[in-house]
Amino acid sequence: MYPWLKVFHNRLQDSFSQQRFHHAQLFHGLEGVGKSSLVSELAESLLCNNTQAELIRCGSCKSCNLLKAQSHPDLFLLTAEQNSIGVDDIRSLNDFIFHSAQQGGNKVVVIEQIEKMTESAANALLKTLEEPASKRYILMTCNDVSKIKATILSRCNKVQVNIGDTYHIAPWLGQLGIDVSVHPWTELFYDQPLLLERWLKLGIMNEVDNLWKVAHDIVRISDIAALDNELNKDPSLLSVFSRFLMSAAKQRVMNGQLGFVQYQHCVTSIEQFLSDHHQVLGINRALSLSKLIFGLQRAMKQD
Ligand SMILES: [Zn+2]
Repeated sequence: MYPWLKVFHNRLQDSFSQQRFHHAQLFHGLEGVGKSSLVSELAESLLCNNTQAELIRCGSCKSCNLLKAQSHPDLFLLTAEQNSIGVDDIRSLNDFIFHSAQQGGNKVVVIEQIEKMTESAANALLKTLEEPASKRYILMTCNDVSKIKATILSRCNKVQVNIGDTYHIAPWLGQLGIDVSVHPWTELFYDQPLLLERWLKLGIMNEVDNLWKVAHDIVRISDIAALDNELNKDPSLLSVFSRFLMSAAKQRVMNGQLGFVQYQHCVTSIEQFLSDHHQVLGINRALSLSKLIFGLQRAMKQD
């Protein structure tokens, strides 16, 4: 388990031992903080045949072996592989909960990114949450809790997953082989360390380095197509680039290269760009990217 998740696991462990473990748990926090990892750890422990008062899987029982083979019949996994989680997905989840457990123990539902539920899916889930059934657990994750209906929130135990103290992140990254002194931007992601792990696995650390350089040299950028191409390599890179741009603009203010009004223009353009991408499906990205870049250049050249 990731070292910063232990404190959350311990707390849940306590509530489990004291039989206060809520049937519906919502884990929220930034992308890359480890919510999914914590949830799958919990799901596996809840399904293990040898879990008694301790919420720890044994790793060798029939259930644990089924989990390793990714074929446990009492685990239902719902991820928003498409852009949304629809009402049919929630209906099949309800069917799953209703039928008895094939292994005779608990049944566990995992829903990733519940903010992607449609309105009718959320209503269908609400009914399920209102009628808790014995030995049924619903574990959910979400990156943005503000997008979740209050009626749903009020029926879950909410756990905000975060890093807490960041002092152990640099050594942890070091173990992965990421030298934080080589990549000056790593500190910006100490609260989302699994993003770094993912970029390392995808082999795109150089691309992120390059986005950092581009963000700091935005006045001279003209090849929008190349930049767009780079941003295409992972869905997380769009918000990363925006974060780099924010950081670079702040830097210019501190160096006296950018006035406050111009800085505000920059912030507005970056926020607009981000919200367009989160809200408008099928947006022409190259176009909105050039709008952003030219907007920033205009603001910076006015100084
Ligand atoms: Zn087991």
